[in-house]
Amino acid sequence: MAQKKLLIVDDSPSIRKSLLDTLEKARIFSKIVEADNGAKALDFLMKEKFDFVISDVMMPTLDGFKLLSVIRAQPRYLDLPVIFLTGQKDSVDKIKGLEIGANDYITKPFDPGELLARVNNLLGLKDLKDQLEEKNRQLEAVNKKLEELSITDSLTGLYNRRHFFERLNGEFSRSKRYSLCTSLMLLDLDYFKKVNDTYGHQKGDEVLRKTSEILKVNSRVHDIVARFGGEEFIMSLCQTDPEGAFIMAERIRKGIEGFQFASPSGSSFHVTISIGISSIPDIRINNINDLIRIADISLYEAKKQGRNRVVIG
Ligand code: GH3
Ligand code: MG
Ligand code: MG
Repeated sequence: MAQKKLLIVDDSPSIRKSLLDTLEKARIFSKIVEADNGAKALDFLMKEKFDFVISDVMMPTLDGFKLLSVIRAQPRYLDLPVIFLTGQKDSVDKIKGLEIGANDYITKPFDPGELLARVNNLLGLKDLKDQLEEKNRQLEAVNKKLEELSITDSLTGLYNRRHFFERLNGEFSRSKRYSLCTSLMLLDLDYFKKVNDTYGHQKGDEVLRKTSEILKVNSRVHDIVARFGGEEFIMSLCQTDPEGAFIMAERIRKGIEGFQFASPSGSSFHVTISIGISSIPDIRINNINDLIRIADISLYEAKKQGRNRVVIG
């Protein structure tokens, strides 16, 4: 068995000796420490982590029950296997011990075979429990990762379209209910097909990733930034009126226009983006489809006016 430490607690030297003899011979534990009362046991337990305790009940200073209560109050010892040693007739003690969290008991004088069987049994259970906990932790991590993946666009790391709609729904109804402003930005890279055609699809991907980064940097915690599809992005701006949205959009537009990309041949190139904005409150907008439609019309207008510009709907 792996490195496991046992603490034996008993005020009787002869009981301690027979426990020690039995357990050393069985080679279950890599280290066995003896304490002759509860207070000393506690000292050992605080100083280093033990994997098993066999303790007498009746002891001077701190008895077995009190010792166990203090042990169990520690998060790291919540599932520490503890066996109590009780007298032949102490059935009240046996019950009490189990009630306050002992895992098992053994009556004195003990039978070595029974002691080892009970110790091995508890260690086996503890191992199973640890394995189960580890599996659960792994499962939780996998679930978390899956959840992240299901809402993320793999190329850019932004939220995907489906998740954006889910979040926008909540944002829209909240804004309606509390009469708050919300703005929506629809952004589309200009002549992006040409970027792909000129510099290759991989370079195109890099441009999409950089654009996403610029959007992220220019967004606030409560804004929702997503890839709407292809070279189109969408942002919902929490509690932002059209003027505020315009300022943000201009910052993004300039950020993208100003970024210098390196072409595969070593020269450099720039890309630009067109942005359409819609905002509520607006009498034309009753639902998120209206909100997106107006932003789309604005975006189309920005393209028509020559691209690399922001238009408010
Ligand atoms: P406009 O200024 O009118 O928006 O012109 P555009 O060329 O940007 O628009 P168009 O819709 O004609 O072309 C979009 C291009 O985006 C075509 C498509 O191959 C490219 N594209 C879409 N998704 C990806 C992607 O994930 N990676 C790369 N590299 N290109 C993509
Ligand atoms: Mg485009
Ligand atoms: Mg497009």
